[in-house]
Amino acid sequence: MQSRFGKLFDAIQSSLIILLYGPPGCGKGTQGRLIIEWLGNTIPSISTGDMLRAEIAARTPLGREVQSIMAAGGLVPDGLINAALCSRIQQPDCTRGFMLDGYPRTVEQAEYLDNLLASRNLPSPIVIHLDVPADVLVGRMVSRRQCSQCGEMFNILSKRPKVVGRCDVDGSPLIMRQDDHEDVIRERLRTYEKLTRPVVAHYPSDRYFQISGDRSTPYIFEEITGILESVMDAKT
Ligand code: AMP
Repeated sequence: MQSRFGKLFDAIQSSLIILLYGPPGCGKGTQGRLIIEWLGNTIPSISTGDMLRAEIAARTPLGREVQSIMAAGGLVPDGLINAALCSRIQQPDCTRGFMLDGYPRTVEQAEYLDNLLASRNLPSPIVIHLDVPADVLVGRMVSRRQCSQCGEMFNILSKRPKVVGRCDVDGSPLIMRQDDHEDVIRERLRTYEKLTRPVVAHYPSDRYFQISGDRSTPYIFEEITGILESVMDAKT
């Protein structure tokens, strides 16, 4: 159901860019789905990780190029991901803005995004940073399971499927993401600390909001919606 904010956003006909920022496993996917619904589906959620996984599944040249990098927990080269993002945001569903999950992951990507937004007369992003301690992240990610067909996420500790190993939505087998094994997770977290954490300093304090992601989903969501409402109220 569309929230008060969603209606306000619709009414003022402005654009909105949200960056969901944080380490792998911090809950960006879950919060992202809730935010988009709360906004009344006025903007799309764009996950660069999902885009790349789709390329791999479709065995495209890009998919073949990035497969081994992703399996090892590294980052895909900036040039490749920037080009993929640039073409995605030209789609008609992005005219009112979009929410990014997993991008930018380097300072170079953040600079590229600034230029892209400026060239399309889009506003600067609101950055929501979900911070979660590393040990909690490893525990969460090794217990994640994903539907092999529809992509629905489960967790064998906190969000169990009704039938073991099967998706509640379509009954397909659940799988563990190739990069959710502990050694790869640790490499992804190292990559995050080295290359992605410095991105925080790129954004001004009035557009950047850090919140604790080590709490239950509804509490985190309430804090995020409070932030979005306050930023939007300040604009109107
Ligand atoms: P995610 O699903 O966001 O955790 O992304 C999975 C993997 O896709 C990452 O570990 C990277 O290998 C790759 N990837 C996703 N987004 C980016 C990005 N913005 N820059 C570079 N690599 C990315």
